[in-house]
Amino acid sequence: MKHFITDNAKDAIIGVDLNGKISYCNPSCSKLLGYAEKQLTGKTYNSLLPRGSTHNFDQVRESILFNEDLQPIPTEFNSSNNTKVSVVAQYSPVRDESGRVIGLSVMLRRISTFEKAASKAQSLLETAPDAMVIVNQGGQIVLVNAQTENLFGYSKQELLGQDVEILIPDEFLKHHKKHRDKYFGQPKTRSMGQGMELYGKKKNGSKFPVEISLSPLKTEEGIFVSAAIRDITFRKKAENKFKGLLESAPDAVVIVGEDGKIQLVNTQVVNIFGFNKEELIGKKVEILIPERYRKSHHGHRHSFFTSPKMRPMGAGLELLGLRKNGEEFPVEISLSPLETEEGVLVSAAIRDITDRKQAEMDLEIFNQQLQTKNKELEQFAYVASHDLQEPLRTVTSFTELLAEEYSHLFDETGHKSIRFITEATGRMSELIKGLLDYGRIGLNRELKTVDCAILLNEIQNDLASVIAETDAKLESDALPKIQAYETEMRMLFQNLITNAIKFRKPGTAPRISVTSESVNEAWKFEVKDNGIGIPEEYKERIFVIYQRLHTRDQYEGIGMGLAHCQKIAELHGGTIWVDSQPGKGSTFSFTIPNSQHQISSHEA
Ligand code: ADP
Repeated sequence: MKHFITDNAKDAIIGVDLNGKISYCNPSCSKLLGYAEKQLTGKTYNSLLPRGSTHNFDQVRESILFNEDLQPIPTEFNSSNNTKVSVVAQYSPVRDESGRVIGLSVMLRRISTFEKAASKAQSLLETAPDAMVIVNQGGQIVLVNAQTENLFGYSKQELLGQDVEILIPDEFLKHHKKHRDKYFGQPKTRSMGQGMELYGKKKNGSKFPVEISLSPLKTEEGIFVSAAIRDITFRKKAENKFKGLLESAPDAVVIVGEDGKIQLVNTQVVNIFGFNKEELIGKKVEILIPERYRKSHHGHRHSFFTSPKMRPMGAGLELLGLRKNGEEFPVEISLSPLETEEGVLVSAAIRDITDRKQAEMDLEIFNQQLQTKNKELEQFAYVASHDLQEPLRTVTSFTELLAEEYSHLFDETGHKSIRFITEATGRMSELIKGLLDYGRIGLNRELKTVDCAILLNEIQNDLASVIAETDAKLESDALPKIQAYETEMRMLFQNLITNAIKFRKPGTAPRISVTSESVNEAWKFEVKDNGIGIPEEYKERIFVIYQRLHTRDQYEGIGMGLAHCQKIAELHGGTIWVDSQPGKGSTFSFTIPNSQHQISSHEA
C-alpha cells in the first residue's frame, strides 16, 4: 500500500541515503526530471542541483540530523535535457523502526510560471509604496500587499479570491466591469480614468480619493493586471484649497504648463472668455489670443519658462484677449511661476479692462472738450476785455473833458459824481487790464534757462521802494537754474512776493524766505511769509480770477495775482497751493517739472 501511495503521487518523491546517493524515485520524479528510474538510483543527489544552487545535500543532511524543521525551499533542478525545472523542495527525515535517521526524502512540486511570478511579485509588491492589487482576467483578486490591507482595512485573506469591485464604491461599479474587460482586450501600462476623479472604498464603506495606475502582467497562465493604488486624500485637500483660492481671485486665472497647454482655469475665465472649462483644459493657451499674435506668443512663452519670475505681461503693450464669439477685448495680464510636482507652471491673472479703457477714452475726450472750451473762454475773455477797453476809453476821455471844461458849472454833487465816475472807470480799466494780462500769459512763451537767483535779485530791485517802506526782509537759498518761460516766471515770483509784503500783519515787518528743493523730476519752490495768513476754507478760492478776501479799503488789488500764478505754474506742467495758519503766515508752494517731463506733459 505504501508503495502505491508514493508511486501514484503527483509530486515527485526522491529517497536519498545519508551518503547523498539516490536510493529511490517515484514515476512522477522520472517524469519531472526526464530520467528513467534506473538512471536516477545510485546518482548523487547533488548532481541534480544546478551549480550555484541555494542549498546542497550536506546542508540538508545537517539540518535533518539536528532535527530542524525545514520549510519548503523554492529551487531549481537539473533535468535530463540540460534544462532547469523550477520546484519547491520539501525535505523530511526517513527513520527506521528504532527512530534512527537512515536517510531523507525530498518531495518536489513544480512551480507554475504564475506561482513563480506570484512569489516574485509578492516580494516585489511588499516593497512598493502603493497599495498593489493583482487581478486575474475574471476580475478576481489574486495578490495584494500589506499596503492594500492598511489602506482598505481588509486582511489579505478577506481579499484573495474576491472580485476587485469589493474595493470600488457602488456608483462606479456599473462602468467598472466594462472598463475592466476593455483593458484586458488592450492591456498596456497607463493611469486609470484619466481626467476622472477616482475613489476607493474601505471595508467600513467609507470613500476616499485615489490615483491608480494599471499594468499588465503576462504569464503562461494568461494576463493579470496589477493596479497600483495611491491614497490622494491629502493631495486632494491641498488641491481643493488651491482651487478655492483660485476661484476667490477677482481676476481670471489660467494655469499653463511648459507645453503651453491649459491645465486649470477658474470660473472668471469662463465668464470673461465665454468658453466652458472643458473646452479649455488641455488646449494651447493661444486659443485665448487673437490669431495674429499667436506665433509671437509661442516665443514669449518659451522665454518666460527659461527664467520664470513674477511680472506683468507685455509691459507697455496693449494686450488683447479673444472671446469664444471672436470678439477681441483689452486685457491686463500678470504672470507668475508656480512650482509644482510636475515642474514649473505659469499662472496668468487676466483682467478684462474694457470698462477701464472705455472710461479712459471717455475721460480723454472729456478732457479735450474741456480744454477746447477753456481755450474758447479765455479767447472770449480776451476779446471781450479788449473790446470793452474801447468804450471805456471813450467814457474816460469824456469824463476828463467834462471835468476839465465844465467843472465850473458843477455843484457839489456834480463834482462828487465826476470823482466817482473817474474812480470807477479807473478801476474798470484795471480789471480789464488784469484780464487781458491773464489772456496773454504764455502767448509768446519760449523755454529758456532761467537763473532763479538772478530773477529774484531783479525783482528785489524793482520792489526796492516798497521793501524799504515796509522794512521787509527777503532771504533765499541758492536758487537753481531751470528751464522755464522767463517773463512768466518773473510774474509768478513777483506776485507772490508782492502779496507777502501786501498782506503783512499791521505793526510787523514782513519776513519773506524763498527756498527750493528738487522733488520727483521737478523743482519745488516755497515763498513763505509772516503775514496775516489765510483761513483754511479759502485756500482754493484765492486762486480764482477776481477772488479776494478783503475790501479795497483794507488791501489794494483786483484779485488777479494768484490766478496768474496758477496759470503760470500749470503752463509749465506744475501746480501751486498754499499752506497757512491765520495770524502766523502763509507758505505758497509751486512746482516746475524738469523740462523733459514738462514738455512731454504739455504735449499730452
Ligand atoms: P490781490 O492780491 O489782488 O487781492 P491775489 O489773487 O493776489 O489778489 O490774492 C487773492 C487773495 O488771496 C488776496 O486778496 C488775499 O486775501 C489772499 N492772499 C494772497 N496772498 C496772501 C498772503 N501772502 N497772505 C495772506 N493772504 C494772501
